[in-house]
Amino acid sequence: MTHRWSNTQADAFHAHYASEHGSDLAIRTYASRLIGQEPTLVLHGGGNTSVKTTMTDPFGETIPVLCVKGSGHDLARIEPEGHTALDLEALKKARSLEQLSESAMVNLLLTKRLHADAATPSIEALMHAFLPAKFIDHTHADAILALTNRPDGAEITRQALGEDVIVLDYVKPGFSLARAVAQAYDNAPESRGMVLMHHGLITWGKSAEKSYEQTVALVSRAIEHIENLTKTSLIQNRETSEARSEERYRALAPALRGALALPSESPDRPKERFILLPMTDAETLEFIHTDEAKALLTAAPLTSDHIIRTRHTALWLENPEAIEEALTHYAEQHTNYIARHAERMPPGETPRDPRPRVIAIPGIGIVCVGETVQDAAITRDIVRQTIQVKRAIAESGRYQGLSEEHLFDMEYYPQQQAKLAARTVAPLGRQVALVTGAAGAIGSGICRSLLEKGCHVAATDLPGDALKSLAKDLEKEHPGRIIGVPMDVTETKSVSWAFKEIIGTWGGLDLVVINAGLAHVSSLADMDVERFRTLERVNVDGTLLVLSETARLFKTQNSGGDVVVISTKNVFCPGASFGAYSATKAASHQLARIASLEFASMDVRVNMVSPDGVFSDGARRSGLWAEVGPDRMKARGLDEQGLETYYQNRNLLKMRVTSEHVANAVLFFATRQTPTTGATIPVDGGLPDSTPR
Ligand code: ZN
Repeated sequence: MTHRWSNTQADAFHAHYASEHGSDLAIRTYASRLIGQEPTLVLHGGGNTSVKTTMTDPFGETIPVLCVKGSGHDLARIEPEGHTALDLEALKKARSLEQLSESAMVNLLLTKRLHADAATPSIEALMHAFLPAKFIDHTHADAILALTNRPDGAEITRQALGEDVIVLDYVKPGFSLARAVAQAYDNAPESRGMVLMHHGLITWGKSAEKSYEQTVALVSRAIEHIENLTKTSLIQNRETSEARSEERYRALAPALRGALALPSESPDRPKERFILLPMTDAETLEFIHTDEAKALLTAAPLTSDHIIRTRHTALWLENPEAIEEALTHYAEQHTNYIARHAERMPPGETPRDPRPRVIAIPGIGIVCVGETVQDAAITRDIVRQTIQVKRAIAESGRYQGLSEEHLFDMEYYPQQQAKLAARTVAPLGRQVALVTGAAGAIGSGICRSLLEKGCHVAATDLPGDALKSLAKDLEKEHPGRIIGVPMDVTETKSVSWAFKEIIGTWGGLDLVVINAGLAHVSSLADMDVERFRTLERVNVDGTLLVLSETARLFKTQNSGGDVVVISTKNVFCPGASFGAYSATKAASHQLARIASLEFASMDVRVNMVSPDGVFSDGARRSGLWAEVGPDRMKARGLDEQGLETYYQNRNLLKMRVTSEHVANAVLFFATRQTPTTGATIPVDGGLPDSTPR
């Protein structure tokens, strides 16, 4: 492991932070980032650092404080505020207690903060308080997990790291662990560090650099020892094709995602869906095709804090044809697991849902399951680490993880459950939407509104800069939840390819917004039939092709869905010289009504929104109006502003219709506020002639 400490960088942190936060916290910030930027040391909060220093209280008195990493802060990017300052003397007093319940410990940590708005300190804060050293680093280093997760783990760890490193049996994180760590330290104060079995490493020092050096030195020794022990390679077959696996995954994902969807109590939304992230890369495939993969993946997680992300075991799906049976079997296993440990369930906690979060499928790869893409992505990172560490152990010995009751305790540890509960899933957080014609004014407004409600959005349009720049803009605010997918709605192949892309990205689709459209101004006498056919292809064929593909996908998923078609007020009240648009949109509208009849038995609702003219969405001009606006302006002798005012003044409410208004109507249907299908909401400020009837 590379030693990355640089005095120049440390000085730069000092210069930047010391005047405001003091030199201890400035250098703590630097050293914490060095540790955080090394994924083999810490992963998704699996580690924490601290410094003991002094601060001035409101009465002008200097008091000893412990600054320890607050939950929700990432060591890789931590700022001085990411370490929560606590009254050190008060925490140290807790060591004399015989017992301290979890809730009492959390209450103590929260009430002994120097700043009421500082983050909740790590549940390992007391461990930092009880150890006397000034700087402490605690990591869940891969190499330490690879030493300790073995039947003879303690012995191997001593051999690898030497007798001057303390090896402590597994104790559940919290007060008991803090006391055990402090006791072990008192018995051997000259030690260089401490290994917690199945958990991680603690190092300490008078300076941040000393403590960091110990972490690097001990982890390097662990790596070297494992390399020396390694006798075999698990990998026999290097010929699995990633492309073939990805293709198989895309064929399987909709049925898998549909089967995973949980029945809910709500008649309006009978299935709660999940987001799926596949791992079909060569390394994953090589691993799951080894003889040991099944045993290793279904064995205990590497460390107990992984369990809320991975569940106590992965699902090994040997036969993808039999998904339902496999999920039923997994749910039974889950029920038995809960029953075996029922007496350990803390008061007020309830069993979690019986769905796996990690599914290994020979010939395909590993699928990570989450309520949102962020959840699934954390699980995927943990699975990557798990594969590497378990493989290293199997190649140099035998894997043995934590016992099940320890895992159960950590899974239902109230603080762990609070971590999951703290991230609120937005109204559309478990859903995936496709929007056609997304690069236009209405389409981009719809994409933005769906993203704001937590949805995962595939923005589709003809390939080009407009689509690319939309996806790039939205990605800044909603990272991981927007993709731009080129799609030509008039081409069967293009539509089917785009659906496959979305399935490959998130596992399936729940909401389809058909918005792509073309307009043309011409009297019937002058109509160029080729222009008319161009409109037919986009407005009619486009609606049909997307509806057909949607119907097939929703049938396979078997977990319901929604379709919203952006219609127009012209369907009800056509305009002269607007025949091509009015007639083709009327056909599209009628197809949507047919879809509402045909799809209802699949719990798929199909509804329409009929706006009057929308000119722009921020800087994005409406393509429709670029086509129609100039003619309309000429016809009425108006300039651009004048035309907008003309449209505004012709409705009852004298309102300008915006893309946001249209998006709100889409959201009304997408969030299933009423049991409605086959209906139209006008978004036009009130135009009596075009009110649907
Ligand atoms: Zn830990």
